[in-house]
Amino acid sequence: MISEKMKPLLQNNSAIREMFEEGKRLAKIYGAENVYDFSLGNPNVPAPPEVDAAIRAILDEEESTFVHGYMSNSGYEDVREAIAQSLNERFQTAFHQGNILMTVGAASGMNVILKTILNPGDQVITFAPYFLEYGNYVRNYDGELVIVPPDTETFQPNLEAFASRIGEKTKAVIINTPNNPTGVVYSDAVLRQMAEILTAKQQELGTDIVLISDEPYRELAYDGVDVPYVTKYYANTVVCYSYSKSLSLPGERIGYLVIPDELADSAEVFAAATIANRVLGCVNAPSLMQRVVMRCLHAKANVAAYDRNRNRLYSALISYGFTCIKPQGAFYLFVKSPEPDEKAFCTVCKKHNILVVPGSSFACPGYVRVSYCVSYEQIERSLPAFEAVAKEYGL
Ligand code: PLP
Repeated sequence: MISEKMKPLLQNNSAIREMFEEGKRLAKIYGAENVYDFSLGNPNVPAPPEVDAAIRAILDEEESTFVHGYMSNSGYEDVREAIAQSLNERFQTAFHQGNILMTVGAASGMNVILKTILNPGDQVITFAPYFLEYGNYVRNYDGELVIVPPDTETFQPNLEAFASRIGEKTKAVIINTPNNPTGVVYSDAVLRQMAEILTAKQQELGTDIVLISDEPYRELAYDGVDVPYVTKYYANTVVCYSYSKSLSLPGERIGYLVIPDELADSAEVFAAATIANRVLGCVNAPSLMQRVVMRCLHAKANVAAYDRNRNRLYSALISYGFTCIKPQGAFYLFVKSPEPDEKAFCTVCKKHNILVVPGSSFACPGYVRVSYCVSYEQIERSLPAFEAVAKEYGL
């Protein structure tokens, strides 16, 4: 019954989800407190109090048929204008409501923009390690994902390898900073070089190449690191933002696309993306959540809690002999496997009731992802198990 396109998806059903199920199974056997599940990127800090307060206030103050009704497929105009102005204040941009399209989270934002721009056979470049769903999103529109191999010294993008992969079929490039799974933030210098490469290639090839900046982790950055705003570097940029991590609202499915005036055929792209939102079946982003985020433009997730987890887990793992770069953002550590086959390493971890995700789930074998969006207590309880794993490998 199912389509040919769905068959491989069913077979490769995400390793992350499988790991989650395994966690539940182990918890039944050993007790939840003795299983250290670092597999999922589900925020553990609660949404900031402004969110619940906004929901209550909206229900009390705003007209029910307005709050729960249809609106423009691109979202409420006042919400889009408020988001545009808040971005302008923070990043000295010049956006207006016509640049902001409300989406059902980043996953949907990515699908909307890819549906809007891809023709069958078009190529989309991304950098390993990457969020594996990108491949599925691109294939939804019969595009082809082209992967730039990782620079495992820094996990910054390998720009030489990038430039050599751009060709006539290149329609888009996806970047993700702060990055899942490495926690790396792309610096001003990296973005500048990337923009120079893209601008030169556009001229040489006579094509438009869209840089899609997938930014669900923008607000999760540590040690005062700057997360540059990508539209300022390259005109053909589309930003894909989400409140899933920044306000701990992953189940509510709310985010937006920024389609700047500087993008080639901007108005047409915006109009087409609005239709894509509709015909993909989203119709519009959840109405109540749109009104909530407008009231929460200054609210912040408890980044300090993630930072505390980051410092504790990073220092401990390094002291046990593991190798890992210190993440500057997001809530993941990308740890080098002590043996070449990281899946075998995951099995050893599981023996100690530690669940981590193999790097091959991010097109980067030889590493594992450890999500530290968990309670501080879980981190403390897990440390003897991590130490035992290190000893087993003679680190
Ligand atoms: N992009 C990346 C890099 C992610 O890690 C995730 C979720 O974990 C998403 C997109 C999807 O986020 P959303 O919940 O906004 O759809």
